[in-house]
Amino acid sequence: MNEEIIKLIDLQGIDSEIDGFDQEIKGKEQEVGAREQSIADKEAEISRLKALAEELAQNQRDLKAELEDAQVRIKDRQNKMMQVQTSREHQALLKEIEENKKLIKANEEKTLQMMEQVEEIEKNSAELANLCAGEKELLVEETENVKKAVNKIVSRKKSILERRTGLTPELHPGTLKRYDMLRQKRSGAAVVPTKNGVCQGCFMALPPQQDNDIRKGEKLNFCPTCQRILYYLTEDTEPADA
Ligand SMILES: [Zn+2]
Repeated sequence: MNEEIIKLIDLQGIDSEIDGFDQEIKGKEQEVGAREQSIADKEAEISRLKALAEELAQNQRDLKAELEDAQVRIKDRQNKMMQVQTSREHQALLKEIEENKKLIKANEEKTLQMMEQVEEIEKNSAELANLCAGEKELLVEETENVKKAVNKIVSRKKSILERRTGLTPELHPGTLKRYDMLRQKRSGAAVVPTKNGVCQGCFMALPPQQDNDIRKGEKLNFCPTCQRILYYLTEDTEPADA
């Protein structure tokens, strides 16, 4: 088989392996990113709950002030009762006292409801804070593990990159340029095998004459449909598993 084809198969194997490493690194970084996002979401929810609790506390203070005003009004009307002469005036004061008592009762019910709400909010907030603390511990651990894993991948990648650097000068610059362009356009697969006369990149059947040429492997062959570089898969050309 043509030396250039063998080198291209080798180069494709190397680049696929590098792509795999990059994917692996990305996946690990995404795991950490998802954990960070989860923590950020919980922290945002805690802030929201805190603001809500503050709002409710302010409402409770307002209600307390209203309640105190109503109590003052009741005292005032009760004092006036001693001084009024007519039964009409007396009735009017009684009515006002009754209205203020109703206001106080409604006010107390509202306050109680709010206290329950605040309690619920504080409970939820504490649960979230707990979860957050746990996740932060995990994040530290995960970040450390990912760092180690990425370092391992990077050193594996480094040695294979060295192989690549040794290989590329042996290829014709035009071929290399074409290879790089195909890698960009065809999701990283520039060199693909044929199987039973079918391109394994785009799965279109090849003209029988071209299939014969590919089997002979004397020159570079390109798929007429996807333009990928083709080779005939034999035991000798089977790329080693990454
Ligand atoms: Zn093709």
